[in-house]
Amino acid sequence: MTLEQFLLVLDKLPSVARIHLQGVGEPLLNRDLPKMVRSARSSGARVGTSTNASLLTREAAAALLDAGINRINLSIDTIDPLVFKRLRDGITVESVINNITALADIRCKSSYPDTDLALALVASPSVLEKLQEIIHLGANLGLDEVYMQNLNSSFFPSNNSDLQQLNNVDPEKYREATLAAGITAENLGIRFLAPDLDCTDHSYRCQWPFHGCNITWDGFVSPCCLQPDPDLLNFGNLFESDFEMIWQSSSYRDFRARVKADCEPICVECPARYGRMWHPAANPFAKHES
Ligand code: SF4
Repeated sequence: MTLEQFLLVLDKLPSVARIHLQGVGEPLLNRDLPKMVRSARSSGARVGTSTNASLLTREAAAALLDAGINRINLSIDTIDPLVFKRLRDGITVESVINNITALADIRCKSSYPDTDLALALVASPSVLEKLQEIIHLGANLGLDEVYMQNLNSSFFPSNNSDLQQLNNVDPEKYREATLAAGITAENLGIRFLAPDLDCTDHSYRCQWPFHGCNITWDGFVSPCCLQPDPDLLNFGNLFESDFEMIWQSSSYRDFRARVKADCEPICVECPARYGRMWHPAANPFAKHES
C-alpha cells in the first residue's frame, strides 16, 4: 500500500483505538512505514507492527521509535540456527538477534516509555525446546513480553513439510514447557503469554467481526487478520466505498449473525474462535462474556 493510499484509508476510517500495520508480508519492506506510523498516531490510535526483524537496522528501528510506535512484535520462530535457516533462508538468527538487540538498546538509551517490545513466537517443537532460552533472551534484552500463538494453518500450503512440522506440537510437552516458562518469566520480570490449548470455555468468543477488521494492501475489508485473502472473503473495498457502507453491508451483517449463532463455516476450524490461538490478554478483541 502506498502512503497516499494509506492516508486515504485513514481518512475513511471512523476513530479507531488501535491500528496494527501488518499484512501477510514483511512490513519493513514498505519504506514509508515510519510515515504511516506517524500519521496513524496523529489520528489518535495506538499503533503497532509485527516484523521478522531481518530489515530492522538501527536506522529503521530509530525511525519507528521516533514516529511514536506503541508496540513492535518481533517474530522469531526459532533460535536454533539450523531450523532458522530452513524456515528463513537468506538470513541468520544471529543477524536477527543483533537487530533486536540494537532496537532494545536504542529504546533503553533514549526515552520511549510508550513503546512495548515483544518477542512473538509460534508454538512449534523447536520453540518449545528452546523456550527457556528465549525467555532469558527477552529478559536480558530488557523486552516487555514474550508471547506465543498457535499456527494459523490456513496461511500455508498443505505441501510445505517444514511448515507442517511446525504445527506438530505435542500437547503434553506444550503444557510442561509453557508452565515452566511462566515461572521463569515471572522470576525474570518479563511478561509471558501463551494460549491455553485446553481452553474449552466457549465464553471466550472471538470479537473480531464486531469490533475490528482487516484491511488488505489493496483496500479490501475482511473480518480479521486470520482471513486476509480477499479472494476467499471480503465485504467491500475501501478504495471504492465508504467504511460505513461496508461495515453495515448485508454481507457483513449476515456474517456477524452467523458468527453469533456459531455457524459461520470460516470460523469453525479457527483456533481463535474460543481462545486457543492467543492468550486472551494478547487478543485485543477477546471477550469473556460471563
Ligand atoms: S473466529 Fe477466526 S476466522 Fe472467525 S472472525 Fe474470529 S479470528 Fe476470524
